[in-house]
Amino acid sequence: MQNENTPDTSPTAQPQRAGRRNRLIVLGAAALVALGLGGVAVATSGTDHPAPAAVSLDAQTRAEAASRADRSIRESSTPVTPSLSPTPSPSAVSASPTKTAAAKAKPKPKKTAKPTPAWVDPMPGAAVTSCYGQRWGTLHAGIDLALPSGTPIRAAAAGTVTQAGDASDGYGNSVFIDHGNGYLTHYAHQSRIAVTVGQAVKAGQVIGYEGATGDATGPHLHFEVHQGMWNQIDPAPFMRARGVDLGC
Ligand SMILES: [Zn+2]
Repeated sequence: MQNENTPDTSPTAQPQRAGRRNRLIVLGAAALVALGLGGVAVATSGTDHPAPAAVSLDAQTRAEAASRADRSIRESSTPVTPSLSPTPSPSAVSASPTKTAAAKAKPKPKKTAKPTPAWVDPMPGAAVTSCYGQRWGTLHAGIDLALPSGTPIRAAAAGTVTQAGDASDGYGNSVFIDHGNGYLTHYAHQSRIAVTVGQAVKAGQVIGYEGATGDATGPHLHFEVHQGMWNQIDPAPFMRARGVDLGC
């Protein structure tokens, strides 16, 4: 009976259940729809921003890249497509040579900076006994540098010896060095000369030794700078401009 009841009740309940089921189905469907929409919305909202955007960006970038590639290929295709597509590499190469050139240019000034002290003190440590200028009614056309006799005298700069000896003109044993830039230096009253005419000398090279030959009251080096032969100028500012302070 209970079995029958149950069937009895069941049929009545079944429609109810069916109705509930329908309702549930409807609700569930609605819920599913809602969830689905929501899910779609969420999915779309979630995926739209990242995924589609990324996809769209990828697509755009790819399209742009493709168009660029096409452009580059098209623009450069006429001459030589492959070689010109590496065109950026030549530019980089061209940039690297400029860097290397700059790097090379930097050491060059350093190398030139080394010869810049091409001018040196002809007798370092000497005391100045007379500067360039009027003295006793005449022009003292050089600077007198005093140290004990026999002190080495050095070429103020590289050049070629044009005169070496005693010309009986009051300078005693004297040496002229032509520096090839319009200037000559003159070293007078030497006790002994260590160079010969035509000899090439380097800056600082010993050309002779201090003495008192010629018209000299005592051992000293009479040092002159000629802007053109026998056009003596004041050695002090000339040498100072070249990094050598002779003390006048
Ligand atoms: Zn003098």
